[in-house]
Amino acid sequence: MSTVAVVGAGAAGMMAAIEASKRHRVILLDGNDKCGKKLLLTGNGRCNYWNSDITPDKYNADSEEALERIISEENLSETLNRLEKIGLYPKIKNGYFYPYSNQATSVRELFDRKISACRIGFRTGWKVQSIAKDRDGFSIVSADGKTVRCDKVIIACGSKAYEKTGSDGSGYALAKALGHHINRPLPALTGLISEGKFLKDWEKIRCDAHVTLYGNGKEISSDTGEIQLTAKGVSGICVFNVSGPASRLLEKGEKVELSINFMPHLEEGFYGWFDARSKALPDMTLEEALESIFSYKLLFVLLKRAKTERNARWSDLKEAQRKALCEAIEQFTIPVLGTESYDKAQVCTGGVPLKEISPDTMESAVVPGVYFAGEVLDADGRCGGFNLAFAFTTGYIAGKSV
Ligand SMILES: Cc1cc2nc3c(=O)[nH]c(=O)nc-3n(C[C@H](O)[C@H](O)[C@H](O)COP(=O)(O)OP(=O)(O)OC[C@H]3O[C@@H](n4cnc5c(N)ncnc54)[C@H](O)[C@@H]3O)c2cc1C
Repeated sequence: MSTVAVVGAGAAGMMAAIEASKRHRVILLDGNDKCGKKLLLTGNGRCNYWNSDITPDKYNADSEEALERIISEENLSETLNRLEKIGLYPKIKNGYFYPYSNQATSVRELFDRKISACRIGFRTGWKVQSIAKDRDGFSIVSADGKTVRCDKVIIACGSKAYEKTGSDGSGYALAKALGHHINRPLPALTGLISEGKFLKDWEKIRCDAHVTLYGNGKEISSDTGEIQLTAKGVSGICVFNVSGPASRLLEKGEKVELSINFMPHLEEGFYGWFDARSKALPDMTLEEALESIFSYKLLFVLLKRAKTERNARWSDLKEAQRKALCEAIEQFTIPVLGTESYDKAQVCTGGVPLKEISPDTMESAVVPGVYFAGEVLDADGRCGGFNLAFAFTTGYIAGKSV
């Protein structure tokens, strides 16, 4: 029986270890004192671990072809089946999967128990510093000088998002030392930072909006949902979903902007709709006609951007003033200077290129016997369970193939 070492006991590593233990002696190594530390934070402590609509367009990755093979229907259905066999019973809301308990801790406990039941040698407080290949296999050395020998190794160290959970980017260093390239990991699923006088006026507003990200004037990505306007910029799930592309554009030195439509549900657009509303309510000032639509704070930000008086009436406005008001409401464009830092990013975009692994086995094309799983790879998904689904699926493929 050969020995497989799995580095990292997050979603990907735990799944890989359990699957590999069917055929091998498995040693699971993690720098933390428990498994699944990041898992506990997911879905606001509820663990949104899967989505019913997992397709390649929900991810950014260096190779769409490899991604398609990884998240094939067969792999996804086998992985979901494994999760059920581990004991996970889902509650599915709008396609988002949570444990029925609504508690991420219950998912961690299920995995912890399964790891013991599968007789996996789980070593905690074991921070891997180096992995070296020799004629007989691999030597894995910890930060405090301990060594483990194995025949094959699965690297599932995560990214460098939320470093306090143990994923500190050391997986990239391990991969690089073995000869892999690393596509620079950048913060993703995080807030965007802007500048301008409006920031202090719109702080702490939450509202529905459609956001569109532009790089050098070209539309790159967009999403709709609740946004939070902050003293630094803008946040919220739909902003998170465009933050990975924003990181990449900023890295390339492009001029990045975000355009916000504060009334995205109006099919005919704001102009026609408000014109009709104003005719029906001719005595109302702009403030009166808009006060049940926007919070006062936001209303004054929008009027200020449009350089329009709150006591003016729509019928009094010149065409250019009407257009300025429409633009403030439907295309409130802000410069994007940066993203929040790694400690406030849910994932990283970038990592070990999918092009350097076999998508059918997750084995390295650079060093035979080395496998990768999870967020250490260059694939990051939108909010909604796509990242844990990728971690579990790649863990499953690596574990069964090793
Ligand atoms: C706040 C937050 C909320 C999130 N919510 C969701 C959500 O609802 N749904 C979703 O799909 N995704 C969510 N994500 C993303 C998701 O958690 C990650 O994509 C996923 O956990 C990645 O799994 P992983 O196993 O690849 O890495 P990780 O979970 O990061 O695990 C890596 C493990 O490797 C260990 N490790 C690292 N380096 C070493 C080393 N050198 N030696 C030994 N051990 C090492 C770490 O201690 C860690 O335990 C969220 C992330 C955050 C931060």
